Amino acid sequence: MSNSSTVTRPVRRVVKGMPTSDGAGVKLRRVIGQPQLPDLDPFLMLDEFGTDRAEDYIAGFPDHPHRGFETVTYMLDGRMRHRDNHGNEGVLVPGSVQWMTAGRGLVHSEMPEQQEGRMRGFQLWLNLPGREKMTAPKYQEFGPDRIPVATPSPGVSVKVIAGKVNGTTGPISQPATDPTYLDVALEPGAEFTQTLPADYAAFLYVFEGTLEVGAAPEVSVLRTHELGVLDEGSEIRLNGLTAGAGGKQARAILLAGRPLREPVAKYGPFVMNTREELQQAFEDFQRGRF
Ligand code: MN
Repeated sequence: MSNSSTVTRPVRRVVKGMPTSDGAGVKLRRVIGQPQLPDLDPFLMLDEFGTDRAEDYIAGFPDHPHRGFETVTYMLDGRMRHRDNHGNEGVLVPGSVQWMTAGRGLVHSEMPEQQEGRMRGFQLWLNLPGREKMTAPKYQEFGPDRIPVATPSPGVSVKVIAGKVNGTTGPISQPATDPTYLDVALEPGAEFTQTLPADYAAFLYVFEGTLEVGAAPEVSVLRTHELGVLDEGSEIRLNGLTAGAGGKQARAILLAGRPLREPVAKYGPFVMNTREELQQAFEDFQRGRF
């Protein structure tokens, strides 16, 4: 059902992930945070990693710092061990989510906990408002059994990491950006509609199969490894077109969040508001204050 105040978000532009490598040589696909799409306030970066070849991931991400934002790791396949300089350590298993608020800073490593087999998932970087950039580091970490699954319509299954689908609420709390993070699976022909605040930034990234996004006459097709930046509007509408190889569903992550509309000064793993704060971050890191 639609009414006069409903605006279905069309796709404003389509961006393909750019193959690159990071860490100690991990091959990945950078979707946000590359020349075609430098950022999408409040989202700073999106990487998709996905490979069956151990040599593409085995070097991992040895010790590196973060300050001023959040990193969100969502594992689909494989196991990753994280360890930081504040004594936090754990293993991310398939289907788990780690939402790490770096705040004023930490140094950590993210290393594969396997010698072979498939490694697949996403890392998203989400900005923090200036007033929260120097908070104490914090983790929200949830295993696969703690991520609720909604079945809002026939042929649709949604893992709710953050936000709300009908009566199902995800476990993540982040009032500043009020994020929605959904892993949506649609059988061909199935339809999914999600309401959202109309002015939030939103995008969809397809990682299996093909989807249709929007409502007539503004319907776009998104294929595997394509990101659709969505225009403003009060709802998002998806239709499953084709399944991914070997599967019976198309799958995409759907992200939305409140834009911060603040100046961004960033360099590598530091994201602040001003050049001075960035210089302070370098100095604090070099002096071992993280
Ligand atoms: Mn990291």
